[in-house]
Amino acid sequence: MDAASAKALTAIVTTDLVAVTRGRPVPADDLEKAKVAGVGWTPANVCLTAFNTIADPNPWGTSGDLRLLPDLKARYRTDRTGSGTPFDIVMGNIVELDGAPWDGCARVRLAEALDALKRATGLALVATFEQEFQLASDRAPAHAFSYEAFRQADPFAPMVYSALEDAGIEPEMVLAEYGAHQFEVTHAPTDALSAADRAVAIREIIREVARNLGTRASFTPKADPNGVGNGVHIHFSFVGPAGETATYDPAGPGGLSAVAGAFVAGVLRHLPAITALTAPSVPSYLRLKPHMWSSSYTWLGERDREASVRICPTVTLGGRDPAKQYNLEFRAADATANPYVALAAIVRAGLAGIRDGLPTPPIVTGDPSVMSDAERAEKGLVRLPQSLGEALDTFLADAEARSWFPQRFVDSFVAVKRAEIAATADMTPEALCATFKALY
Ligand code: GLU
Ligand code: MG
Repeated sequence: MDAASAKALTAIVTTDLVAVTRGRPVPADDLEKAKVAGVGWTPANVCLTAFNTIADPNPWGTSGDLRLLPDLKARYRTDRTGSGTPFDIVMGNIVELDGAPWDGCARVRLAEALDALKRATGLALVATFEQEFQLASDRAPAHAFSYEAFRQADPFAPMVYSALEDAGIEPEMVLAEYGAHQFEVTHAPTDALSAADRAVAIREIIREVARNLGTRASFTPKADPNGVGNGVHIHFSFVGPAGETATYDPAGPGGLSAVAGAFVAGVLRHLPAITALTAPSVPSYLRLKPHMWSSSYTWLGERDREASVRICPTVTLGGRDPAKQYNLEFRAADATANPYVALAAIVRAGLAGIRDGLPTPPIVTGDPSVMSDAERAEKGLVRLPQSLGEALDTFLADAEARSWFPQRFVDSFVAVKRAEIAATADMTPEALCATFKALY
């Protein structure tokens, strides 16, 4: 039998605390049936580390059973990845056997955070994930952003574009980036839950296309201690009940509306704590350094690519309306983060800022790394944690940030991440980067 006539299987998937997408396949024609009660899942799976060990101890032990319930609105299918059978995944929510939401499910955490935002403000969050990665290649890297760099990997970029488009992901750009064999993929803004779903589907589609072309895409935050970082930049804006923008106010500082300013203030207040969730691996902290075009201080900047939250440019060419384009970009994230958890943390932190009526933070220009301590203090610039251990301690010390997640969720995350720290403790930066390049 050839691949084309093989049984069509759809995988019901979940993305866990180490940002690995796992799941179980069902025959595609049974999906409607699987919608009712899902497929089986095991609690301790959420304590799998990136090294394929299970954190020990973990809050779930060896007992218990769950269901992984497909959300049929979040199905991504395409036969354009170059594989013999279609790429076909549907995002799942992990629930108890009676259907109650399960504490360890990341996707549910984002849905809850978005609900809380809606209830408190009437606003919905629109988001998009901009993801960078590097392809394995024996060739000498071509110049940064060059057409040669783009074509060197051909037909990678056109195939990725086609597969994403076919899967309904609305790709915007597949481009050659600055680093060696580095690419970036962006997609059109959509509701925040779908944006996180798309982030997951984009990673898996890119991995599959690369694999089919005999190469490998790595989303590690840092493939080489002296090389470029692979960031995940999360863009967001707010819309009101009629779909009108609530982010932009031409009279506000940097064009920020009062509600968006308070949200950003909350994000910056809790950023040192939530970095543990948005940049959650040991090598993440090789990327979050000054002069890496990433992010290293609690910094709101306007069109500055080292700010943690960047006010993005708007184009007025051709009479385009700034209000429709205006958005903010969170830059302190990478692909070792679960996209649902990263976005849930941003939303909860922002919501705390709105609840407390925080003023819009100062928009800082210049280089915080060369400012005096007094100048940084005056501008509210706090250095982000400089290791995963420090990030976890900072997260655990922020009682409010901890309270946004169920206790066993926090315990699972910390157990997994402490296991990662232990497993990498003796590695040189080179070995650490090589290990994560292969894992992600
Ligand atoms: N590669 C940079 C990072 O690690 C981002 C460069 C850019 O602005 O696109 O986040
Ligand atoms: Mg980029």
